[in-house]
Amino acid sequence: MADAPVDEFALIADLFVPLTGGHPAARGLCDDAAFLAALPGTDTVLTVDAMVAGVHFLPDDPPDLIARKLVRVNLSDLAAKGAEPVALLLAAAFPRDVTAAWLRAFAAGLGEDLTSFGTVLIGGDTVATPGPLTLSLTAIGRVAAGQGLARSGASVGDDLWVSGTIGDGALGLRAAQGDLDGRLAPDDIAFLADRYRLPRPRVTLGPRLIGLAGASMDVSDGLIQDLGHLCRASGVGARIEAGRVPLSEAAGRAVDSGLVTLASLLSGGDDYEVLFTAPPGAVTDVQALAAALGLPLTRIGAIVAGTGVVTIGPDGEPLDAAQGGWRHFRAGS
Ligand code: ADP
Ligand code: MG
Repeated sequence: MADAPVDEFALIADLFVPLTGGHPAARGLCDDAAFLAALPGTDTVLTVDAMVAGVHFLPDDPPDLIARKLVRVNLSDLAAKGAEPVALLLAAAFPRDVTAAWLRAFAAGLGEDLTSFGTVLIGGDTVATPGPLTLSLTAIGRVAAGQGLARSGASVGDDLWVSGTIGDGALGLRAAQGDLDGRLAPDDIAFLADRYRLPRPRVTLGPRLIGLAGASMDVSDGLIQDLGHLCRASGVGARIEAGRVPLSEAAGRAVDSGLVTLASLLSGGDDYEVLFTAPPGAVTDVQALAAALGLPLTRIGAIVAGTGVVTIGPDGEPLDAAQGGWRHFRAGS
């Protein structure tokens, strides 16, 4: 069976229909489209993310983890808008020689995360490709009408906050590629590789930021670059103190041992944390929220008049944080 050709319709019936959780919108994956009932008083929040083998994950990564990362990067976008997930649509282009065993593991990972994040699959499309595995997931979320968070809500004088830790994703890619073997403790390597393969979208934080945060976005392409986007959307500048940016213990050890610079961690991708602004008077509320969620929320700087991001190094001098960050289209790549 493992090497028999995969049948598209059997695949949908056997592996994807169970992932609908019987949600009426999915119509048993037996119709041309899904029908989601409108909920008065809410805005529907839509986001889509594509993941390509060799770009967003390593081609040999375990299929269940690929599926779970796909779910998580989407839920991270919804969370940053303060939205709760409702349902997902999956467009999958599987390599022609994909095996039934691979697909089963992929669907199992998908199911695991749909359950743990309380959402369902309500439709999609399945095709074969002569190219690399390419996945696109559309997430549908909901938020109270008019309450969704935006990148454009930052005001001069606001504090700048970030959830969790920064830099683990970028180091985690190196860890997953074996680049840190023998240079960092095996436990640290395992921790970092896991952070790359399995982001932790801040789904409980996002909705709780409504009424507290001015601007909010998820950090996926590097803190400095993403903060630059937030600043442009808000028409402001920002100043961050590199020494305040929260690092995991493993990332801290990687910096201390010279494996990576602090500046490069501020530009590394795949963090999937939430970057948000709040007025200075909200400090105790933000700290109380962090305690309630058991999630570190760290004040890393402030919103200032002007444009652009200035990074102050631990020595008080401006840090030439590589202005880079992840870009898909660049000369020579
Ligand atoms: P079409 O011929 O219009 O492309 P399909 O035969 O591809 O429709 O799809 C049949 C049903 O299966 C639809 O309800 C569709 O949403 C669902 N479906 C197809 N592929 C997937 C997938 N990868 N994930 C979830 N649902 C899927
Ligand atoms: Mg089709």
